Amino acid sequence: MSAGPSSRARHPVTLIPGDGIGPEITRATVGVLEATGVAFAWDLQVAGEEAMRTEGTPLPARVLDSLRSTRVGLKGPVTTPSGTGFRSVNVSLRKELDLYACERPCRIYPGVPTRFERVDLVIVRENTEDLYAGIEFAEGSRGAQALRALVAAETGRAISEDSGISLKPVSRHGSRRIVRHAFEYARRHGRRKVTAVHKANIMKDTDGLFLACAREVAAAYPDVAFEERIVDALCMQLVRFPEAFDVLVLPNLYGDIVSDLAAGLVGGLGVAPGANLGESVALFEPTHGSAPAFAGSNRMNPTAQILSAVLMLRHLGEVAAADRLEGAVARVIAEGRCVTADLLPESQAGRAATTTEMADAIVAAL
Ligand code: NAD
Repeated sequence: MSAGPSSRARHPVTLIPGDGIGPEITRATVGVLEATGVAFAWDLQVAGEEAMRTEGTPLPARVLDSLRSTRVGLKGPVTTPSGTGFRSVNVSLRKELDLYACERPCRIYPGVPTRFERVDLVIVRENTEDLYAGIEFAEGSRGAQALRALVAAETGRAISEDSGISLKPVSRHGSRRIVRHAFEYARRHGRRKVTAVHKANIMKDTDGLFLACAREVAAAYPDVAFEERIVDALCMQLVRFPEAFDVLVLPNLYGDIVSDLAAGLVGGLGVAPGANLGESVALFEPTHGSAPAFAGSNRMNPTAQILSAVLMLRHLGEVAAADRLEGAVARVIAEGRCVTADLLPESQAGRAATTTEMADAIVAAL
């Protein structure tokens, strides 16, 4: 009998529990992963608020070193306080490791309370460019003044003196590689269509470039259908006819927003997994954030993090374990006896399971 992947050496994986509800959903996920029989050599790396407190930086170099060495990470959400100097750990990780492609499959598992019956789409989000790149100049800063002067000289247009400025860089190579990634994903997963999402009618030099690259790349994939949508129209169509979409490829900021919209279509953030992929490192994390108000409650849904771990198992070649784990999650949700409150009608919230109980039920269903 040939040895299956799970009988081989342990998989080295960097484990970043994160902030807020991150540690509790990550603990639940590690328990479920270990119950699959696949062996892991976890390299625990603290990032975020605790690292900030103890090491003066939310993203110490050791975290990046670990990911460069293991090449695979499982991560809980990390808090980014709004409007402060604290740069997002999530954005920094994606940028530093060039994790340029974010894949977020959104499908309805039977039993999840949703407004729709059939949604099965995949968001492919560019992860390193756009307004989300975090190149910003504060109101009154030297950089903002210099940019205002440059814009006045080059365009004759005035930017109000009391403006903060964020830049939106979109490159040809960045656009080409993310669209190629979307088409390759479609081919690999037997998907029929890729929709490029943009606002090229207004932002001709950035979204226009993204769209031109999308058209060019699409021509090399005649076996996969291609269409284009303006982002505002797409949002309307997604909430009316989500079944009309398959793979969506989007620049960074639209990808961020439409990911949460798509999560809403399939039952909420509690069931929306994700993968951040580059040429050498893959980092798996849910779409949702750290939900700090619920930290330590043991009430939040571990499914998004567990389904991110399913994506990780597939990436590691542990396909049978991935299928088994996804099947166990689907069964627990379909039975509805041991699920967190977000997976129940409001009237039944009183019988909701805790995070730990739901994870235990998934282990029992393996
Ligand atoms: P959030 O996603 O943390 O939470 C929004 C709401 O979604 C929560 O109040 C809760 O009702 C629901 N929710 C989230 N996760 C859930 C789960 N597992 N089960 C059930 N319900 C769930 O968004 P936010 O409150 O805007 O952000 C909180 C923090 O997280 C911010 O600092 C933000 O920057 C950060 N964030 C981090 C990541 C990441 O680490 N990749 C992603 C998004 C947001």
